[in-house]
Amino acid sequence: MIFAGRQPEQRFARCVECRRVSGPYWIRWRAVRIDEPDTRDEPEIAIYCPSCAEREFGRPRQRPLAERRRHPR
Ligand SMILES: [Zn+2]
Repeated sequence: MIFAGRQPEQRFARCVECRRVSGPYWIRWRAVRIDEPDTRDEPEIAIYCPSCAEREFGRPRQRPLAERRRHPR
């Protein structure tokens, strides 16, 4: 199959933690490199859904405006 010059990219991601499958837009999903930086293998990517990413890495720095209004720091 020909992809008309585009890389055959993966449209949907699956969370490595909870196995949830993303929609096509990956809103707030995070892809994290999990391979050792000094190996020459292909980079390994772990995909986290928003809730697992927040649990694993903490909240994103930029919170949504509505949420910031509700809970000002
Ligand atoms: Zn998840």
